[in-house]
Amino acid sequence: MLAAMPDSAPSPLSAGGPALRDSGDACPGALRLHRADDGALARVRVPGGVLSADRADALLTAAERFGDGELHLTSRGNVQLRGLDAECGGALAELLTAAGLLPSAAHERARNIVASPLAGLDGSPSPTGWPAELDRLVCSSPGAASLSGRFLFALDDGRGDVDALGADVTLIAAGDSCLLRIGAADEVFRIPAGEGPRAALLAAEAFLRAARDSGAWRVKDLPDDVRAELVRTIKAAAGPTVHRPRPRTATPPAPGPHGSTNAISVDVPLGRLTPAQWRLLTETARRHGDELRLTPWRGIVVPGPFAHDEAVEALRTLDAAGLITAPDSPWAGVGACIGHPGCAKSLSDVRAEAGAAVGPVGRLPVYWSGCERRCGHPHGEWIDVVVTPDGHQISHVRGERRDAPTTTVRNDPAALAAAVAAARA
Ligand code: SF4
Repeated sequence: MLAAMPDSAPSPLSAGGPALRDSGDACPGALRLHRADDGALARVRVPGGVLSADRADALLTAAERFGDGELHLTSRGNVQLRGLDAECGGALAELLTAAGLLPSAAHERARNIVASPLAGLDGSPSPTGWPAELDRLVCSSPGAASLSGRFLFALDDGRGDVDALGADVTLIAAGDSCLLRIGAADEVFRIPAGEGPRAALLAAEAFLRAARDSGAWRVKDLPDDVRAELVRTIKAAAGPTVHRPRPRTATPPAPGPHGSTNAISVDVPLGRLTPAQWRLLTETARRHGDELRLTPWRGIVVPGPFAHDEAVEALRTLDAAGLITAPDSPWAGVGACIGHPGCAKSLSDVRAEAGAAVGPVGRLPVYWSGCERRCGHPHGEWIDVVVTPDGHQISHVRGERRDAPTTTVRNDPAALAAAVAAARA
């Protein structure tokens, strides 16, 4: 049984320390709008990526009433609304609250929970209730309201997909038990499956206490000695550990049918959905499982059940609407930040450039960034294309390691497309 975790020892701030809360947590939310060049931006947390058809309707209403009508998927399975009227905050909050999308104003930016999108749909013996239970626990914890908007929980059904995303607290299903990972630690705690969400919350609360002096936002930002003390604290409550290194590469659900066919999956070009595409997905969900699951890879799983012909027809319709419905689409694995003109920091219109460079399907995903902040970049192994004053730099990223740029291309779209295709091959 996992007991409540005691306070960690006071933690000294190491010299030359990591990222700290020295300038406030500017992460946008649904109540804290961010000003961008294309208007205000709201980020609506969708724990586990799970949305009922009714809540999906509410998000579309918000996008059309207050913003530019489009829905942008984030690398954490959340939704961003862009082009918002700067004065819409109160009315937007009212609409989202009425739809159940803002269960706690104090916790709205702390509800960062990703989950395996195919959990329970393709044969995995999955604890599908985890996202809702963890969300409820987070929202009922006064302390958890202090979690930064950057802190991330991952709920992995055992396949290792979201375990690879570098979350701060990860739960991994393992039969009658589950595993609890803190940060990137290779040693994980084995606990009874039924206690998983509560253990995840207790671990996050223990992190907050450990971070009190250092002001770290994330587990990886803690000074080494404080992080070690945090793990010792959790060990004292949770018991022995087992060795299970974190997977290095995340494998998203492939576009197409799953579990023949308990679900269908689509990817969204550059994570940006038009109102018509969103409406179509919502209508499809309403005719089947009444649920959408937004993935951390900017895709959407629609749980069924679907008869074989229904799945084929649904995928054909979604394909005709411009969504990615098969792994051999040239758009598969292509991502980009918002870039110019939405972001003032961007050195170019990376979305247009990414679209112009779409070519043969690559082995590795590629992500285009308009500046070196690389907002929303993928995890694991991928090709990084970043715009710099010297041109587009292309490099290979493996986990936390980025190779020195292998190629820099200046003002030559054909050469850029060829270099990106070569890097992805
Ligand atoms: S990576 Fe740079 S250009 Fe792209 S959205 Fe972030 S800040 Fe803007």
